[in-house]
Formats: sequence, C-alpha cells, structure tokens
Amino acid sequence: MKPLDCDEVKRNVHEYLHSELHEQDLDLVTAHLANCDSCEGHYDIEIVFNQVIQRSCDEAPAAELAERVLSKLREIQDHED
Ligand SMILES: [Zn+2]
Repeated sequence: MKPLDCDEVKRNVHEYLHSELHEQDLDLVTAHLANCDSCEGHYDIEIVFNQVIQRSCDEAPAAELAERVLSKLREIQDHED
C-alpha cells in the first residue's frame, strides 16, 4: 500500500474526526501524522484524537479504535525521541 501524501492526509482528517475511515486507512493517516513535521505542525494530534474519542463516546467500538490509534501514535513518537 502506498504511503499517503500530505494532501490526502489533510482531506482524510475530517473523516478521521467523524470516525468514517476504515482501520487500515486510520493506520496510514496515523503513521503519516507521526512522521510528518508539516502535518504535525498543522494538527494538534492529541486534540484531534480527543475529539474523535469524545464524539464517539456513545459508540464503544469507535472510541476503542481511537484510543488504540492514539496509543500507537504515542508509541511511534516515543520511539523517535
Ligand atoms: Zn504530511
């Protein structure tokens, strides 16, 4: 699967917020955001994910997915430090 470019990520972030992406796409967006300074400067990733979690609080699977992606993101970022 080809990596996402910044334009694709910027388009997908809105779907991201509405939990409309498939888990596979979510992984691609997460990996891009974790490794792209341009996008990371563009989005406060923790805030984006907190919004996902809040919006999906009545939908357990979506909330769990968002939590899982956020912890994966932290793993990737910790690894780089
Ligand atoms: Zn980017």
